Parts: sequence; structure tokens; C-alpha cells
Amino acid sequence: MRRLDFRPNATEPATIGSARALFDTRFSDIQDSAEQTVREILAAVKTGGDAAVLDYTRRFDYAQASALRVPEAAIAAAVERIQGTPLWGAMEKSAARIADFHRRQLRESWVTLSTPGETLGQKITALRRVGIYIPGGAAAYPSTVLMVGVPAKVAGVRELALTTPPSKETGLPPDGTLAAAALVGITEVYAVGGAQAIGALAYGTQSVPRVDKIVGPGNVYVNLAKRQVFGTVGIDMLAGPSEVGVLVDSTTDPETAARELICQTEHDPLNSALLATTSEATAEAILAAIERQLSDLPRAAVVRQALAERSFLALTETLSQAIAVVNAYAPEHLHVLCAEPWSVLPRIENAGAILLGPHSNAALGDYVAGPSHTLPTAGCARFASPLNVDDFLKKSSIVAFDQETAATLAALAQTFGRYEGLEGHARAAV
Ligand code: NAD
Repeated sequence: MRRLDFRPNATEPATIGSARALFDTRFSDIQDSAEQTVREILAAVKTGGDAAVLDYTRRFDYAQASALRVPEAAIAAAVERIQGTPLWGAMEKSAARIADFHRRQLRESWVTLSTPGETLGQKITALRRVGIYIPGGAAAYPSTVLMVGVPAKVAGVRELALTTPPSKETGLPPDGTLAAAALVGITEVYAVGGAQAIGALAYGTQSVPRVDKIVGPGNVYVNLAKRQVFGTVGIDMLAGPSEVGVLVDSTTDPETAARELICQTEHDPLNSALLATTSEATAEAILAAIERQLSDLPRAAVVRQALAERSFLALTETLSQAIAVVNAYAPEHLHVLCAEPWSVLPRIENAGAILLGPHSNAALGDYVAGPSHTLPTAGCARFASPLNVDDFLKKSSIVAFDQETAATLAALAQTFGRYEGLEGHARAAV
């Protein structure tokens, strides 16, 4: 982990400003090199349609690919294989908790009726057709299908198209992913990954009708593609390689903190972590606990690379300073493991998910707690929220005046119209 020492007696004390600049570049090296590749893939898909998508699928994922759509019979067969396993029961229970959490976010259309002659309001409409990207590649993510698909269903989206990379061996997405799609009620599934999947959803191809918005996490190619097609379609946020911030003090159990850091960095060597603390002794104990826990972890090499290359240890004089470092890092997940986590909560400004206390572990948050685990990464938590029902809804304003009210307000509108040089507006205000 890169060590940042904010304490006044450090040789060259770090500052929040310098840390912020460093955090801002946490993924810029890979983004810069992938940007042009993504631009080329999107341009090829826009003009070449299915043929271009198949070409990239053969190149990156499944050499014999001949069709994009996963047949419904293949989805049904996957359901049959998964239904008798513990994964099915876990998915059913998790889906129910996710639905319960997201139903609380639903909002209704409203109109004002308090002023006679004047009705103002807001009409809520669910998006008609949404594309869901589910990462594949190195691992299978049935949990992500639930974390994205269930909020979309709760919001009332009418058509959901799911796209995810095929396995190199079978040409189909993993059974768990297909079974999770069926559980959510999604039957339109494409075995396509990466930037070519985002291009197909955004522009449409012969076999993929274009969507209104693309949601869901993915690797750097997926996220750069989402950023490049924004405007042609809506996107939810940039949810890329996972991140975790862990805030600890001298009261924290090192084994718990070590588990949290490992849990969120085992996805991908590009994952990033921040350990922020006022206690150097606790930090050293956590680093030792990480080494012990990695000794028999299957994905230890991934964790080691993520911690060595893209992670930070921040040593601070005060808890306030540690909180400021966390806010500058703006992690996807923040685990508050210091004493009195609830007293820290009001001071956390930038974090996708905030886990309070030693029992609110990241694995529960990722799989079963209820809130979506699709969260803003790469510092986007400064301005973005976890995936939620609002991502699938839009609002239209409603204005209805009677003649008398319109006449009362007309003089104001005429003033604006004439000031802005728009005489047509001024004359239309009657
Ligand atoms: P992915 O599905 O995002 O990407 C795989 C695709 O990348 C392939 O289909 C291929 O088309 C494309 N690709 C690979 N190499 C390429 C290259 N050299 N040039 C162009 N395209 C290329 O799967 P992944 O790579 O395993 O990444 C998944 C990511 O999603 C991880 O970083 C993980 O941490 C993250 N994730 C996030 C969440 C969340 O909710 N935030 C959930 C699950 C996974």
C-alpha cells in the first residue's frame, strides 16, 4: 500500500489537497490506454451492427460465436440446473430483501391544488426499455443481476435487455447469471460483453433493439464505452473496478479490518483500497492480519496486486483528518470500524455505501442486505448515488392555468421575454 503520512512530525507531511490529486488519478493510466480502443469498437458497432459485435465477441470471448441472443431454452436449462442448488434459495431471499428496500424509494406523481386556477405538478414515468450490463469475464455475478434487475422491476420498466459476456468454453453466460435473469423475469439476454455490448445497446443492431438507458457495472472498457455513448442513451453512473475505504482507530479488531480490505480487493487486480487511521500500531496489526489471511485465500494474488499497486495507507493525527482523507478518496464502499461509528456518519460526505460497525460486513452488503451493490467508483461518489429506483424513472413537469391566472402572470413573462430579446415570447404571454 502506498503510505501517506499526514501527521505533523512526518518528514514530508501529506496534505488533503495532494492526496486528492493522487486519488483522482487512481485509474487514469488504464483509462488513457483503453480510450482509443473503445472509440474504435463503438464506431465499428455503429456501422457494422451484428457482424461487428460478433467479430469482437469472437476476438475477446468465444471464438465460435455465431449469434448474439441466448435462446430461451438455454435460460430454462440453466434454471433447471440451478434450482436444486443452495444458490437458488439464496437468490430468492436476497431478491425479496432487495425488492423490499427499493419499494421504499418509489415516488408518486403529484399536483398542487392549493391555489385556485393553477395546477403545477410532476408526472413520474418509468423508462420504457433499459439495457442491463452484467460483468462476466473473470467471474460470474448472479448477485449483480439481482442488484440491478430487481430495482428496475420495482420501478416498473417495461422491457429489460440483459447483456453479459459468454464463457470461452460454452459460448453461453454462466448458469447462475442466466438463472438470476429468469428469477427477475428477464428473458431477453445477449451473450455479449465489453464495449461492443454497450455499443449494441446504445445504437441498436439487426438483432438488438436499441435501449433508452444502460445501467450496470463492468470493467474499464464497459465504463469508458458508457461514458462515450452518454447522450445517445442515458447511463446510470460509472461503476468500475471496486474500491473500499476502511476507517479504523486503536479500538478496531485488526482481523475484521483485514477481512474487509481483502473482500473488496479480490475481484480484480485493478481494485483499490484506502486504510485511514489515527493509530499506526493498528495499521501495522491490520497489514500483518492481511498476510495471515491471504496464506490460504484462492485469489490471494489478485488481492496482493490490488493492495500493492492501487491502494493507500493514510496515517493521520486526528479522526477529523482521517475523515477528510476518506471524503477526498470518495470510496465506493466505506466501512467505519472505529469506536462510535454513528457519530462519524454525519461527517461522511462522499461514499457510495456506508457500513457501520464490525457486523455490517461488506459481503452482507454485497449480497443480501438490500441496497444495490452497484455503486459509484473512481471518485464518482462525490456526485453520484448507488443504483436506485430513480435511475429507472423520469419526471415530466405539469402546468395547467385558467385564463385569470395566466393573465395575472403574463406581465412577468413579457418582462423576461423583452429583456431576452424574444418578442415572440412576450406576445405569447397572454
Ligand atoms: P466485464 O464483463 O466487465 O468485461 C469483460 C469484457 O471486457 C469482455 O467481454 C471483452 O469484451 C472486454 N475486454 C477484455 N479485454 C479487452 C481488451 N483488451 N480490449 C477490449 N475489450 C476487452 O468483466 P471483468 O473484466 O471481469 O470486469 C468486471 C469488473 O466489474 C471488475 O472490475 C469488478 O470489480 C466489477 N464489478 C463491479 C460491481 C459493482 O456493482 N460495482 C459488481 C460486479 C463486478
